[in-house]
Amino acid sequence: MKDRFNIFGVPIDKVTMKDAVKRTEDFLKEDRLHIVATPNAEIIMMAQKDEEYKDILNKTDLNVPDGSGVVFASKVYKEELPERVAGFDLMMELLRIADKKEQKIYLLGAAPDVIKKTYENLKKKYPGINIVGIHDGYFKDFQEEGIIKEINSKNPDIIFVALGAPKQEKWIFKNRNILNARLAIGVGGSFDVLAGKVKRAPEIYRKLGMEWLYRLKKEPWRYKRMMVLPKFAVKVLFSRR
Ligand code: UDP
Repeated sequence: MKDRFNIFGVPIDKVTMKDAVKRTEDFLKEDRLHIVATPNAEIIMMAQKDEEYKDILNKTDLNVPDGSGVVFASKVYKEELPERVAGFDLMMELLRIADKKEQKIYLLGAAPDVIKKTYENLKKKYPGINIVGIHDGYFKDFQEEGIIKEINSKNPDIIFVALGAPKQEKWIFKNRNILNARLAIGVGGSFDVLAGKVKRAPEIYRKLGMEWLYRLKKEPWRYKRMMVLPKFAVKVLFSRR
């Protein structure tokens, strides 16, 4: 049974990390592409101004509750959300399992030096991991067909797509019927973290739900993008059910 709740038209699955992993393992048994998204407050606010994006987020197979904003909304709406499932943590879990089960991984996205370093660092962490291919995320439209052909020739189980939101979900959705894989997940800036280019917020910030504060301190130029966070909180409070 699917247990989900809705924040401004974006469904959120009430899953723990363990549930999310179980669902993805089931997805990998089925011979079709499954889409996993990681909606946080920023993504939900983007979807308010972008019907196409909202529609895509309603057609994914799993939306994990990413970010303290989503946890906050669940509390206001009195929806029991067992825990926050950060996209980065889910990706790390999937990689750990892929290494163990010899699943095939494709990495698409980020700058050329970042994707290369991500690959190297993952190979250091998991020497046996089966990364069947990588490609940076700065390709032109005319190159897309070739990239998809390359991905399909490698027949990956999982494609991690790091093009940032909403580009990554739109890209996956647009190509869902031609991608030869079982799972595709948008992972935003995760390759930058894996490459060691961006530092993830220390655990204390994450525990307190203040990852955004750390990010604001480190990347103050993002403040404009982050202004949607208080707007999200106010909108949640005023839409209390
Ligand atoms: N990116 C990309 N192609 C693009 C735009 C962005 O590969 O055309 C990459 C960018 O290099 C970064 C990631 O997508 O690695 C987006 O990171 P960001 O932190 O902005 O995304 P968020 O996690 O906020 O969605």
